[in-house]
Amino acid sequence: MVDVAELREDTPGCAGVVFLDNAGASLVPRQVHRAVVEHLELEMRVGGYEAQDLAEGALTQTTEQVAGLIGAAPGEVVFFEGASQAWSQALGAVELVPGQRVLTTTSEYASNGVGLLRVARLRGVRVQVVPDDAEGVLDLGVLEAELARGDVGLVAINHMPTHSGLVNPAEAVGVLCRRFGVTYLLDACQSVGQWEVDVERIGCDLLSATGRKFVRAPRGTGFLYVRSGARLGEPLLVNHIGGEWSGAQEYRVLPGAAGLASFEHAVAAQIGLGVAARYARWVGMVWARERIGELSGLLRRELGQVAGVRVHDRGRELSGIVTFSLAGRESAWVVKALREQGVRTSLSRPSDQVWTQEAAQGSAPAVVRASVHYYNTETELERVVELVRALA
Ligand SMILES: *Cc1c(COP(=O)(O)O)cnc(C)c1O
Repeated sequence: MVDVAELREDTPGCAGVVFLDNAGASLVPRQVHRAVVEHLELEMRVGGYEAQDLAEGALTQTTEQVAGLIGAAPGEVVFFEGASQAWSQALGAVELVPGQRVLTTTSEYASNGVGLLRVARLRGVRVQVVPDDAEGVLDLGVLEAELARGDVGLVAINHMPTHSGLVNPAEAVGVLCRRFGVTYLLDACQSVGQWEVDVERIGCDLLSATGRKFVRAPRGTGFLYVRSGARLGEPLLVNHIGGEWSGAQEYRVLPGAAGLASFEHAVAAQIGLGVAARYARWVGMVWARERIGELSGLLRRELGQVAGVRVHDRGRELSGIVTFSLAGRESAWVVKALREQGVRTSLSRPSDQVWTQEAAQGSAPAVVRASVHYYNTETELERVVELVRALA
């Protein structure tokens, strides 16, 4: 049985603030902080390379813990400074033939959106946004019909978007991609650390995530899973770690995840990522999902009963991201007013979600995003609801 009081003791940050920006950058546990600082101190004493040699065990732990967190093998994981970098590197290595289509969702992350358009221009492919069903979820029927038409080179979707509580049917998409033999890239930035995410069950070829959100790792960390045996082309750009320079005019790209690796890393942060992944596994993702579901459910329900408040989350299942707005109030003003009362939320702008905006026919407003984690308490959320009631 997990003890929330113990989790909060491990989280010094929650003493000073009601922290509801876990979808932005969560509070790191003290164990993570300690590991990072210890490594920085080691670097100060012996220099960065010697420190890295001495930390070999900790870095191996990072690979094993991160792989373990998503059900991958250690050799299938490679590290980056964030999820966008990991995702872009993956996209650049997907084999696409001119004339093919890339299918994505209305809720795709802004950075992925522009990345897809760039690759479309570069490779001569076309990006097609699969519409949502009546409940606001990626429409599986349409996806299947589009896959059946052939000429699809890639399906790139998100598990949970950044700007709402939506959950996309990642496993069902995996089944379809396997059936049609199409490469599947999943952006799991918001789901890793929040839910149990298992790459085998999802059936994706590529999966990217960041450290700083629900995994609670330091900033500047991210990783990519590459299924062993996934069909990939050469990455858009190669370096001497992912590639071997084997002659004056020759190189060879290493197979799988290794081919996408690069040399330099913030080693201290990467060690912190390993400790955070171990912590997440110790807490247990089945329990985390349940707890986050209960807390976010409570917040949505209670906010929904406040006159003048509109809750925006749609979907069959919902994540820990709660979005709402107040009638007659700018959401930016609400975020600021809450911050002045010691509650940290964030603002979600429609301009960051062009395809969502398009699907909503231009009517999606800026919303307040309150993203809960397992260490939040019912008492904290009751207080937030009271504050919102006063603002509304
Ligand atoms: C935050 C986020 C990203 C980008 O992660 P970075 O680490 O900032 O690059 C990508 N996709 C989703 C859904 C996100 O929420």
